[in-house]
This record gives sequence, structure tokens and C-alpha cells, in this order.
Amino acid sequence: MESFDAIVIGAGVIGSSVAYHLAHLGAKKVLVLERLQIGAGTSTQSSGILRTHYSVIENVELARRSWSAFTDLAGYLQDEDAASGLVKCGYLICAPDGPRLSPLQEALRGQQAKGIEVKFLGKEEARALLPIAHFDDAALIGYEPEAGFADAYLVASSFARAARRRGVKIMEGVSVEWLLVDNGRVCGVETTQGSFSSDTIISTQNIWARDIERWTGITTPVVPERHAVLALECADAPYTSQMPVFKDLGSPGMLYARSYGGRHMLVSEGTVGETLSEPTNEQGDISMDYVVEVGAQVAQRFAAYENAGLASSWTGVYDVTPDWNPVLGRLPGIDGLIVGYGFSGHGFKLSPGVGRVLAQEALGLATDVSLAPYALTRFSSGQLLTGKYGLGAVS
Ligand SMILES: Cc1cc2nc3c(=O)[nH]c(=O)nc-3n(C[C@H](O)[C@H](O)[C@H](O)COP(=O)(O)OP(=O)(O)OC[C@H]3O[C@@H](n4cnc5c(N)ncnc54)[C@H](O)[C@@H]3O)c2cc1C
Repeated sequence: MESFDAIVIGAGVIGSSVAYHLAHLGAKKVLVLERLQIGAGTSTQSSGILRTHYSVIENVELARRSWSAFTDLAGYLQDEDAASGLVKCGYLICAPDGPRLSPLQEALRGQQAKGIEVKFLGKEEARALLPIAHFDDAALIGYEPEAGFADAYLVASSFARAARRRGVKIMEGVSVEWLLVDNGRVCGVETTQGSFSSDTIISTQNIWARDIERWTGITTPVVPERHAVLALECADAPYTSQMPVFKDLGSPGMLYARSYGGRHMLVSEGTVGETLSEPTNEQGDISMDYVVEVGAQVAQRFAAYENAGLASSWTGVYDVTPDWNPVLGRLPGIDGLIVGYGFSGHGFKLSPGVGRVLAQEALGLATDVSLAPYALTRFSSGQLLTGKYGLGAVS
């Protein structure tokens, strides 16, 4: 049986990042096993928004560390072929009077305390940045210039290529079927193409993380939840790529919106989606009623979109935990087993930082940020990382 220093299960944007960082930090023999192809899980379905805005302060630090990688991925990976597809257009967030006002104020101050550039804007300043929207009801508007959106598939494949160039072996079309454990320590995996041994296994399986529960009996509190993304076309008010990403805490669905292809508006709700009984990232139906419901919310903020058309749409699936934040680090009870799952719709923006800390943990190095807040045990101890805006991916 071939033996490795570490085995990564799953080559989404998180697993590919872990693999790269393992090699970068000195692991000599690393194997990545991917059932489909690199990035073909939920990463390809991402809206790609990058911000450091969070109401959970621990996430701000992970996002801040990740942002610097996105701004120069080729430099970060020391690979001239790497790219993130970054559009640095900034991030605008507003709240009306009401329950989300003081959490927004607190979150913006929290970012500033971490040295992140955040501005408090007046309505006219906000309109100058996003002239297709109105801000009549806004009681508070925050703006983060160092933010935008990028391409999660491009980032996953860039991490994977850079990992390969550092000697990592990536096998696609190979499914891990079982985890091998001996005397309370992992010792390898059984796959559809034979067994491989290692005393360090990192699972980055996203909505398929429940496999861990089946293999080990350790509770895996993650639920697959389907979300719809719409691309709207409005010739009178194109959403250009110079316009910032927008988060509307005043809308019932806590909408987020960004430019798509330089003219369309990509829009989705930032609240709870449709729970699936089984993990699958197959496309689901988007009803016309739903399109009308989201369209009405959009038109409340962007008047010209009253007459917008639907240019395209797709669904994607989040790996949602009870507090909408990931589980990161070692699992109790089995040595050598490390996980990164439960990104609850906001894992892309954390992927460089998370990949690095999981690799550090796997190699027994000090981690850049403490993984303690993200431990699985928080769900039994009650020390949850629940965001102050309620349940949703802005967390
Ligand atoms: C609609 C949508 C919009 C989003 N928008 C944003 C956003 O704007 N900003 C943001 O930061 N985040 C966003 N996200 C979240 C972000 O895209 C995800 O958190 C991130 O892509 C997850 O990466 P991953 O590697 O954990 O998962 P995946 O890409 O799903 O990778 C997991 C991989 O594991 C493989 N796998 C699973 N089990 C096995 C097994 N037994 N054997 C072998 N392989 C296995 C799968 O095939 C899969 O490729 C969004 C997500 C969706 C769905």
C-alpha cells in the first residue's frame, strides 16, 4: 500500500488550498483524492464575493489574511500561471433603523480595530459609488474598498496546479469509501482505486462531510442547503464591474448583489435556503414565484430593475452548520484526523487562510490564528459562533 505524509479528501477550493499549503510548509509526500474533478463540487457554484466584513470577529482575521492572497495569487503561490480573476470593486453594506443597525455599527468598528480600511458613507457618497440604487432608508452605510469578487474555480485550479508543481499527487475520479483507523489513530483510506496509508488525513468534503460520521461515529453537524442565484438584465441600469458589491441588510432576504459579466446583476438571498435530505450539488428547480419574490426585493432598492429580465440562474448548495460557521481542526477521539467543513456559504473568501491553518495544524506547527473557536466541541459546550445578523452567510 503506497504511503503518504498526508492525505487530503476533496479538491474543492478548500482542499486544494490545504494541499498547496502542506507542500509549501514542507510536507514531502501529499495525496489529494477527489471523487469528481478539481473544483467540481460546490466551489463552481460560488458567487465569489470577497470581503472581510463579518459580525463574528474570528472570521474577520481569517478573511483579512486571505484577501492578500487573492490580490496577487501568482505571487502568493509563486506560480505565474495562477490567477484569482479578482475584480476589486469594494463592498458596500447598509442597514435601516432596526435590529441590524447596531450589529452593523459594531462589525464595522471591529474591522477598523483590526486595521482594515472601512469608511462610513453618507447617502450621496454611496449613490456616487452605486448610482443604480437608492439609499433613502439607510441609517448606516459602510464601505470596504479592499473587497470585490473573484472566481472560485480559477482559484481552486490555481491552488491545485501550484500544489502539483510542488510534488503533490492529485487523483481525480477517485472516491474515498472508508477511513482506516487503528488503535484510535487514522492509518489510511480505502478508495475506489485501492487503499493508501497515512497517519494524517484532512477531510475537506463540504456537503459530503457526513461521511465522517458514517466512518467514525463522530457527530458531523452539517446540513446541505440549496440556494438560488439569479443574473438579472436591465438595459437602463447596467450593474458595471466598477460598482461595488452590495449587501442590503434592509431587505427581507438580506440580499447581496454584484456585477456579473460587467452588465448584469448577480443577486441572491443571504438567508436560510432549502434543506436537502441528501448531499447533492445537482441543479435544482427555481420557481417563477421565487424569481418574482426576489425581483420585487431588488426593485425596492434598484428602481429600474422593476423591468429587469432574467438572463440566467443556477442553484448551489451550502454546507450549513448550526451557527453558520465552519468546523476547523482536529476531531476529538481519533488522532491524525483533521477537518474543514461547514463553510455555510462563505468559505471562498476564507480559503487561502483556512488552507494554511489546516496545513499548519496537520504538520504540528503553530497556526496563524487559533482554531479553538472553530472546534467541533463548541456545539456541545454552547460556545457558538453565531453571527449578529441572525442566520445567514454574512455571519
Ligand atoms: C450558491 C453559492 C454561492 C456562494 N457564494 C459565496 C461567496 O460569494 N463568497 C464566499 O466566500 N463563499 C461563497 N460560497 C461558499 C463557497 O463557494 C464554499 O464555501 C467553498 O467553495 C467550499 O469549498 P470546499 O472545498 O469546502 O467544497 P467543494 O468545492 O464542494 O469541495 C469538496 C470536494 O470534496 C469531494 N469529495 C467529497 N466526498 C468525497 C469522497 N468521499 N471522496 C473523494 N472526494 C470527495 C467533492 O467531490 C468536492 O469536489 C457560495 C456557495 C454557493 C453554493
